[in-house]
Amino acid sequence: MEWTSRRISTDFDSAGLHHADLPQLPAEGFSLRITLQNLMRPHVYPEETKSSSGVEHIVDGITCTIMHSYREDEVGGIASWMGCALRALCYTGPAAAFGPARRLLQQSLADCLRPAGARIVLPSSSDYQTARGHVFNHRFLWSPAAFVFATTTAHVSNAIQCAVRLNVGIAPRSGGHSYEDYSLGGRDGVIVVDLEGMNKVTLNKTSKLATVGGGARLGPIKLALWNQGKVSTPSGTCPSVGVGGHSLGGGWGFISRKWGIMADNIVEVEIVIANGTVITANSQKNSDLLFALKGAGANSFGIVTKFTFKTFDVSKKVTYFSYNFQKSQQAATTKAFGLWGLTVTNDVSASLYHDPSGGNTFWGVYLGPKTNLKSVLQKFFSNAPAASSTTELETDYIRTVVINAGFKETDPISILDLKNYTYETRTFKSKSIFVKGSGFSDAGIQAYVNKLQQGPAQSYMIFDLFGGTGSAINAISPSASAWVHRDSLYSIQMFTYWNDRPQDAQNAINWIENIWSTVRPFASGEAYQNYIDSKMPLSAYYGSNLDKLKSIKRKFDSRNIFNYAQSIPLS
Ligand SMILES: Cc1cc2nc3c(=O)[nH]c(=O)nc-3n(C[C@H](O)[C@H](O)[C@H](O)COP(=O)(O)OP(=O)(O)OC[C@H]3O[C@@H](n4cnc5c(N)ncnc54)[C@H](O)[C@@H]3O)c2cc1C
Repeated sequence: MEWTSRRISTDFDSAGLHHADLPQLPAEGFSLRITLQNLMRPHVYPEETKSSSGVEHIVDGITCTIMHSYREDEVGGIASWMGCALRALCYTGPAAAFGPARRLLQQSLADCLRPAGARIVLPSSSDYQTARGHVFNHRFLWSPAAFVFATTTAHVSNAIQCAVRLNVGIAPRSGGHSYEDYSLGGRDGVIVVDLEGMNKVTLNKTSKLATVGGGARLGPIKLALWNQGKVSTPSGTCPSVGVGGHSLGGGWGFISRKWGIMADNIVEVEIVIANGTVITANSQKNSDLLFALKGAGANSFGIVTKFTFKTFDVSKKVTYFSYNFQKSQQAATTKAFGLWGLTVTNDVSASLYHDPSGGNTFWGVYLGPKTNLKSVLQKFFSNAPAASSTTELETDYIRTVVINAGFKETDPISILDLKNYTYETRTFKSKSIFVKGSGFSDAGIQAYVNKLQQGPAQSYMIFDLFGGTGSAINAISPSASAWVHRDSLYSIQMFTYWNDRPQDAQNAINWIENIWSTVRPFASGEAYQNYIDSKMPLSAYYGSNLDKLKSIKRKFDSRNIFNYAQSIPLS
């Protein structure tokens, strides 16, 4: 007996299947069986296990069996039965011959993706688990339907067209550092387009513009720009973070107060949109799309395959500084950081680190000679106690990049190419909040420090200075690009990670939600989209720009092909 299959295009849950959702049966006497796409996790939960708990539904006299699917709970590791709202594959045929949905989908994907010539990894491939594990947060580890290792724009275009044709989700992966693993799709069963092979960095020596492939990582980008012309473009410290997610969601680093965040310096992009065509967005062409990509570009409008960035001369010597303080001085450094940050020259970008065990470090980069450092930091030290240890180093800009990346001060700068890099992973939860004015009030500082010091050991806070006198970040209007947070003094990243025990995970997550709620009355409701947190509403990330972003979404992706839990919606 031949099988026919048809995909149901609407989402449903096991309690809400409607007759209108069902395909036409080919003839009398056929029964209908439905299997959820979540069966794409065969290595974790074999199909047979689920079949045994199928639930009978009668819809207009047709017997349907809907398989409930497993989903890992919030804490991770513990399987629980849940009816999930997922897309379904429908099979019609004799009840006895329940169909191999997963194999059929894999075959269709392979048939569609392979002819374009990119390396494809399917769940049945021996390197599937390696491809899946190549992300920073191992908390979710969603199971994609396929990986496409794109090395050309045509590969990306074909993958998008296959996703549309087969009605499968799609997610680009640049550096794989999404805090919610959205570059694995943020759910099971999507096509992941890995851009790591598109990583070329070229500096135009005349225009000083740099073109950067959509999968390049920050360490190699900074190294290439230094080697090609002693220039740089602002971006974050972690060398393995990818340009894709980072620049499309902001991108703060140690020259940002001078020259802006990475998104501010995007001049042009090459992007593949939902119908598979390759278009350019710059200030002349598709300028509304460029507006959206500068802050809200993570997998909401298309896949960026190439960026063009402004660069800046970093050939002069700069000064790296770092000071450690006691645990009892965490309140004092918080206060000093705010008061100092408010008026310090934009030649300085700086951060403050705290952890529950007493870690208390103030560090940064000053774009000037060491002889001036004392006066530049004078206001900080007039409000803070003496440091317990001090590092002040006048050096090349690229040396500060090596140090801030966590390498040894004496390592060769070539280490930034990441050729021999061991990619770190964590199982973690992170949250963020922006603080305006001169930072936390005294009451806010007290509440913050009390809660901080009750935290689990594997946790920390990082304050990054965004605002203050002459900050290039705040010189831009909130309505000039999607990145709206233009009047904050600093952001706080709250980070907690754990090992295997579910109770540690629950404690850590409870604590981080708790400290966020504790400081919320002393901060703005805004949060940083590069520290994406599934608990935050989109208004916290995009504020007054959200409606405009929705209308740009309707223009460039009217069928919502690029979507995940926190993508820009159509309405
Ligand atoms: C260890 C660590 C250090 C960090 N340090 C900093 C820092 O100093 N400053 C700072 O501002 N942030 C920092 N971040 C946050 C970082 O900027 C974000 O996590 C960022 O989203 C990571 O980008 P990615 O390309 O590596 O991630 P990915 O997981 O690959 O992508 C993130 C999101 O962007 C989408 N995306 C990726 N590429 C493209 C593309 N080409 N076109 C369209 N959408 C795309 C993905 O689908 C996903 O939704 C840090 C993160 C980590 C884990």
